[in-house]
Amino acid sequence: MPTPLPAPYFIAASAKAAALAGLDPAVLAREDFVAVFSGNAVPPRSQPLSAVYSGHQFGHWAGQLGDGRAILLGELRGPAGPMELQLKGAGMTPYSRMGDGRAVLRSSIREFLCSEAMAALGIPTTRALMLTGSPQQVVRESIESAAVVTRMAPSFVRFGSFEHWHYRGKQEALRALADYVIRDFYPALRAAANPYLELLREVTRRTARMIAHWQAVGFMHGVMNTDNMSILGITLDYGPFGFMEAFDVDHICNHTDQGGRYSYSNQVPVGHWNCYALANALLPLIQDKEAAEAALDGYVDAYGDKFDELVRAKLGLTTKEKGDRALADAMFRLMHENRVDFTLFFRRLGALRVDVLDADRAEADAPLRDLFLDRPGYDAWAVDYRARLRREGSQDAARRAAMARVNPKYVLRNYLAQTAIEKAQNGDFSEVHRLLAILERPFDEQPENEAYAALPPDWASHLEVSCSS
Ligand code: AMP
Ligand code: MG
Repeated sequence: MPTPLPAPYFIAASAKAAALAGLDPAVLAREDFVAVFSGNAVPPRSQPLSAVYSGHQFGHWAGQLGDGRAILLGELRGPAGPMELQLKGAGMTPYSRMGDGRAVLRSSIREFLCSEAMAALGIPTTRALMLTGSPQQVVRESIESAAVVTRMAPSFVRFGSFEHWHYRGKQEALRALADYVIRDFYPALRAAANPYLELLREVTRRTARMIAHWQAVGFMHGVMNTDNMSILGITLDYGPFGFMEAFDVDHICNHTDQGGRYSYSNQVPVGHWNCYALANALLPLIQDKEAAEAALDGYVDAYGDKFDELVRAKLGLTTKEKGDRALADAMFRLMHENRVDFTLFFRRLGALRVDVLDADRAEADAPLRDLFLDRPGYDAWAVDYRARLRREGSQDAARRAAMARVNPKYVLRNYLAQTAIEKAQNGDFSEVHRLLAILERPFDEQPENEAYAALPPDWASHLEVSCSS
């Protein structure tokens, strides 16, 4: 059962998430809904539960973990199909171990905003329905106040849920879990000769595609432990995540991750490694090691195909050419060497004009070119890029419009989240509301919000995020 919080209050709700669950967003701020979504009242017919799971943390087997502060209230049947509703931070559960079962306002604002921002970017993710707070004190590095995020997803089952029963040697429970996941979420696989093998194959592919999305938008999860990997291939558990600003392929967004296991570039092989951990847990059901290995090999192509497709769209290319990979690699190398802002670069690239006289090019390209210290390097790449665009007869206006639909103008930069957090800690939630509204339309020009697309200010270079939440 959730543990009540003193004086719970409404902070924010996502109307888009509410619609998915068939809820009227207008009711969410009502006292009775706030009571439910802060864990102070349990809705009729709800039988709250927390789930056990285990997992590999930073590459090491961690044994039993489980929902230490997450409580499932039940399922709502909205227009998008059944959605599970889960409170995060609603008090101790049988799996709280040394923890207090709570979540702080700071990290809850980050999870709430990022879930909805990722959804608006078209990236598979859990959703955030609602954010409530309480003056209850929570002790972390300093004393903070409590909050509860209501998350939504068709399922919160993790890779670690399977690892749990496998490592315990409980085959029947493992089978029951796999059968449940296949029946409810992968029904097309039921007819296969070996449904467990097909489950592995499909989860591997979905995971690879999800990570291709992350790489293409510069999202770093920060804690890709197997207990944070969704069996549906959706982004799960927002903690010390980050969006790439000055591009560095080795960037580590989680201050706690000193070895850089979950750096930007490592997300790709780590996603694959995590699928191996899942395969290992499913092997007693699959019973065919070679076939499981072949299914895991599917990761490489699923990732490569999706990433190439996304990058081609980011570059505004509508046809495929052999040299496209090299053109993109050269671009990423240049961005890395010059620490170019990831989001600004792609957004400005859309404004490039193909036909510009040689003499006018430096001026015409200035907004983009000025992001680079190595101007000759940029110029040389731009010659190749223009040549490539000419070969497919690319039209400036059409390409610009298409690129603006895939290269976001607004992402949840750390400093934006931090500003909203600091205001919220002083009782002003206006910036949370404003950021939610901006990030729900990340591809739109929003002239009144131009400042939210700007480079981080100097103070932001000292910002650090860690696992403490
Ligand atoms: P995370 O890094 O947030 O994915 O959490 C890893 C594990 O620690 C999960 O099993 C969480 O449920 C648990 N955990 C994290 N914070 C707390 C907390 N404050 N109280 C209880 N369990 C927690
Ligand atoms: Mg977790």
